[in-house]
Amino acid sequence: MRPITVQFHDGTGSRFSKANRTITLSNTGDASHLFHEMLHAVQDTQLSVADWNNSAMNREIEAFFAHYLYARSQAWFQPGNFWHDFFRIRYAGQSIANLVHYVGNRGRILGHVTNERLHQTIRYNTPYAAGLEQQLRTISAAYRAMSFNDQRRGDQNFTNLQRISQNCP
Ligand SMILES: [Zn+2]
Repeated sequence: MRPITVQFHDGTGSRFSKANRTITLSNTGDASHLFHEMLHAVQDTQLSVADWNNSAMNREIEAFFAHYLYARSQAWFQPGNFWHDFFRIRYAGQSIANLVHYVGNRGRILGHVTNERLHQTIRYNTPYAAGLEQQLRTISAAYRAMSFNDQRRGDQNFTNLQRISQNCP
């Protein structure tokens, strides 16, 4: 058992602190924020400190993809909602939503693609669009500075989503 604490704050933005295993949620947030941060808490139970530290961007990609799968199933996922507009209008969010063409709801690579193809989509720019990783770096300076573990290939980036969905129908 590894308890976590959830607390609210008046500002915007939510986060999971590994140091004190605390989720801090904006009191204007919604359940999808909590789900995103809880996925980080699950990641914390599975990764060594070294793995955690060298995979910040990999962890964000997994958390945002799970976040998207959850959010898009909700009745409030409509134009004008913050997360709807993030995943449907902003390039960073669109590149996360685009992962449904590569990865299934339970975090496994889809049959018609390969892990190498997914890796390239995450990692490399094309003449037409920046790679997913580069798109996420546009969110903020904190994202721009995140480490990326290039050794993780394809759906190895979604092992926690695979874990939490293994009993899902
Ligand atoms: Zn996150």
